[in-house]
Amino acid sequence: MIANLYEDKPTLSFEVFPPKKDGEFEKAFEVLTSLGELHPDYISVTYGAGGSRAGKTVELASYIQNTLHIDAIAHMTCVGSKREQLLTVYEELKKNNISHVLALRGDRPRDMSDEQYASRDFAHASDMMEFLKENTDLHLAGACYPEKHFESFSMETDLNNMKKKQDAGAEFFISQLFLDNDYYYAFLEKAAKKGISVPICAGIMPITSAKQIGTSITLSGSSVPKAMSDLLAAYGDKPEEMRKAGVDYAIRQIRDLKENGVKHIHLYSMNRPKTTGEIVAGISCEK
Ligand code: FAD
Repeated sequence: MIANLYEDKPTLSFEVFPPKKDGEFEKAFEVLTSLGELHPDYISVTYGAGGSRAGKTVELASYIQNTLHIDAIAHMTCVGSKREQLLTVYEELKKNNISHVLALRGDRPRDMSDEQYASRDFAHASDMMEFLKENTDLHLAGACYPEKHFESFSMETDLNNMKKKQDAGAEFFISQLFLDNDYYYAFLEKAAKKGISVPICAGIMPITSAKQIGTSITLSGSSVPKAMSDLLAAYGDKPEEMRKAGVDYAIRQIRDLKENGVKHIHLYSMNRPKTTGEIVAGISCEK
């Protein structure tokens, strides 16, 4: 069990992703070993929305759980997976002593037809959670969105849907990345008013290159505050300076969160131990 979260002690955790090519796996294990040396409370491993590379998620999560002896959370998406496929992944997780899943809908893969999308077994993450609660003994977490999910008409609607995930069995949430803490504070307040009572982990992604704005940030729907645009304007074409500035920005963001009572930080490590290590060193020694 990811006990610290349930006791509400401060936690620091990381997200990693499986490499795209099988030949890159040895390197991925090295990355995980280096990240493990930073003593996170848990490491979560992403899952392709199509579901075809689920085995890779299990393989990395197993290394984290059974070789590094750090709690692993396997992400699981339902947009491209049938009930039986999810149960097969569950059996693999069980064999590998992994009992935590971040249950997600996932985004529609580009090659998925309208018909396939419309006939998926689970419309939303909460539907998959209900199924997993009934059919497995997994501990479940859900995703949440401090600036609302991009498909949601309003924050109000999105929070109602977040509550459905809690009701369906989410024991805690991990947030989408955000670059402006004020959004997060406002979100926490509104979530509490909606009756969200389980722990929420703040997702922080260091912006270490201008390219990330065009990829991760655009996809996440998160807004880019002026302080970040200024950094990009100053260092966008100087890779190492931008990396350092991005690390510094993440450190300041996390320090501010901690000063304001946020206990759980989830770092999107981007599989980069050096950058992650610098951030861990830069935030207070108390996790
Ligand atoms: P849902 O909870 O289903 O929400 C999707 C939309 O539907 C929202 O607008 C919501 O308000 C609405 N909604 C939810 N429930 C209901 C309901 N019951 N009725 C009506 N409307 C509803 N993607 C991957 O492919 N692999 C990953 O490993 C991965 N990891 C992620 C980790 C984190 C921490 C986060 C924040 C996102 C991650 N994603 C990942 C991206 C995620 O799959 C997308 O953001 C996706 O668009 C939504 O997933 P969800 O689980 O939040 O979906």
